[in-house]
Parts: sequence; structure tokens; C-alpha cells
Amino acid sequence: MKYMDEYRNSQVSQKLIQEIKDLVHQTWNIMEICGGQTHAILRFGIDRVLAPEIHFIHGPGCPVCVTPVQKIDSAIQLAFEADTILCSFGDMLRVPGTKTSLLTARGQGARVQTVYSPLDSVQIAQQNPNKQVVFFAVGFETTAPVNAMAVKKAKELGLKNFSLLCAQVLVPPAVEVLLSDPYCQIQGFLSAGHVCTVMGYHEYEPIAEKYKVPIAVTGFEPVDLFLGIKECVGMLERGMYGVRNAYTRSVHREGNILAQALMKEVFEVCDQQWRGVGCIPRSGLKLKSEYVDFDAELKFNLNIVGNGQEQTVCIAGEILQGKKKPTDCPAFGTLCTPENPIGAPMVSNEGACSAYYQYERR
Ligand code: SF4
Repeated sequence: MKYMDEYRNSQVSQKLIQEIKDLVHQTWNIMEICGGQTHAILRFGIDRVLAPEIHFIHGPGCPVCVTPVQKIDSAIQLAFEADTILCSFGDMLRVPGTKTSLLTARGQGARVQTVYSPLDSVQIAQQNPNKQVVFFAVGFETTAPVNAMAVKKAKELGLKNFSLLCAQVLVPPAVEVLLSDPYCQIQGFLSAGHVCTVMGYHEYEPIAEKYKVPIAVTGFEPVDLFLGIKECVGMLERGMYGVRNAYTRSVHREGNILAQALMKEVFEVCDQQWRGVGCIPRSGLKLKSEYVDFDAELKFNLNIVGNGQEQTVCIAGEILQGKKKPTDCPAFGTLCTPENPIGAPMVSNEGACSAYYQYERR
């Protein structure tokens, strides 16, 4: 695969593995923030080939996992409304709400349509003028620009039947919450290359400074990951902190200015609930007053009856905060499997529990 094979090259990887081993003289706990990186680390066996002194702590960067239970309950309620179509990315469908999931609701007659882009939802709204079309807008900074674009497009088209159920989250405030925990074990971070492609990495510089941690901007292929780990370990071994960019083919310090402008035009920062973690101040995005007509929560009279609590056996919150591993959960691989998931991290392609199950870290 062009532009892929060179980043999976075994000779380059072997060289980097050796360089990392030569650097390491003590144990280090490194958190990969993004669930996509967790899957890549396990899929390519990176946790097994590196020096045993390097411990990976899996972070909260799984958008499906952190979407609050109440938002899923709201989405389900909307999908059951007469004359409403709830549009969602496919990976949200199997995530459990308080009582059920969107997939089960669809089997019971709710109108749930899988889309690949929020712009598909705008098109569905155009094609169905007698129906209300709601897009379930979940995700980190990577999805926010295109969600903003969908709202702008709907406004330009004068659509009155399109809205967003918004559960957008931001990475840096979550990193601060993890680092301000007095029992924090994390000594270095691999930050998510795709988020930094959009937002740049300047937001992490004051965090690295304040908490004196090294942060390496890292991609998703094996060579990208080895380069990020090498930067992070190199700083740790030298007692340094700061932000280093190990994903230069995609990330610049300032990020994608146009995408950020689009986000800022449509969204503003708000406090946000994270599933399993709680409310993190200024860690979410909501529609600005100019676009408030596209806010599904204001448009529909949602009456959520669930308590928003996880099933008691599920320790997803502690896993998302890096305090426990999936294998610490008594339900892992027995009561909870990808076929019968109890918690969100077993559903998502970015969830740590599904990664441990899929790549047999049992
Ligand atoms: S294995 Fe299942 S029940 Fe346990 S923490 Fe993961 S998602 Fe929750």
C-alpha cells in the first residue's frame, strides 16, 4: 500500500526498537491517549517487542467510549419519535445506553440510519422534508470541523428539519484531569496525531510545562509509534519535558487553521460529561447562539428517564482513566465480549477492552 508500507517496514522498525532499548535504563509509564493508538500498539505487538521497562497505560481517547449514557438514551428517544430519523456513525449503534442500544431500538422500530458523514445527514434532511433528521455528533476535535460544516450547509440551504445531538469532546482538558490526579502514574504521553493534525500541538505546551511531562505527537503506523515512543522515552531518560512532534508528515504546530476557524464559527467551548469519568470543565463543544436552531436538545422536548449509570460490574471509567486494565475486569472475556458487550470499551474499534479481546491480551 503506497504511503503505508514504508511506515510498516520491518527493517526500519527493528532499528527503532533497538534504539529505544538502548535508551531505556529504568521503568517508564507512558499513556497513549488515543484508542486508535491502543489498537495499533496491540495489533502490531509493539507492547511485546519493546523493552519490558516500558509500560503502556491506555487513555480515554475513544469517542464512542466517553459519550455519556444520557446522550445515548436521548438518541434512542429521538429515534422513536414519530417523523424523526436519527443518523449516526455505525460504531455508536451497539454502545449500551441505560437500558438498550440504538441497534436494539432499530430492531424495535426506531428510525436509525447509519451514515459515513454528517453531510450525508444533511442530504437525508433535504430528501425528507416532512421528517426531522438528527445527526448524533460524537467525537473529538477530528470530527468537529465536518460537523460544523454540516450545520453551516444546513443553514445555507435553509433547512428547518436538520439538527445535531451534540456530544463533542476535547482532548487537552482530559489530559489535565489525568495529570492533576494526586495518584497519577503517567510519566509521559503519546498524543494523537490526527487530533494534532487539526488542532496543532501548541495547546499541549502549557500542559507539558505545568506538569513537567514529555508529550510526543505520534501517528498510528508502527514506525510512527516507534518514533513517538523514542521521543518520549528520550525526554524521560534525560529528565526533560515539553512537546516533540514525531508525526511531521501530518502535524504542524498550529494545525489546520481553516478547520479550526470552521469549528470556532459554529461551536463554543462548554463543560462536558465524559462517560465513566464525570464532568470535565471546558472539555466539550456546543452550538453557538447563531446556530442554536440546530441544537436537537433544545428543539425536542427530551425526557430522559434512565439514571445514566453503568452496569455495576463494568470498570470502564477506571480503564478510561488508565487506572486499570481490561483484564482487571471480572467480566472481561466471559460476561462481556464483543458479541455481548456490557460496556462501551468492548464495542468500539477504539476501545481498550475490544483491543485486549481481539489481540488476545488475556
Ligand atoms: S470488559 Fe466489559 S464490563 Fe469490563 S470494563 Fe470492559 S466493557 Fe466494561
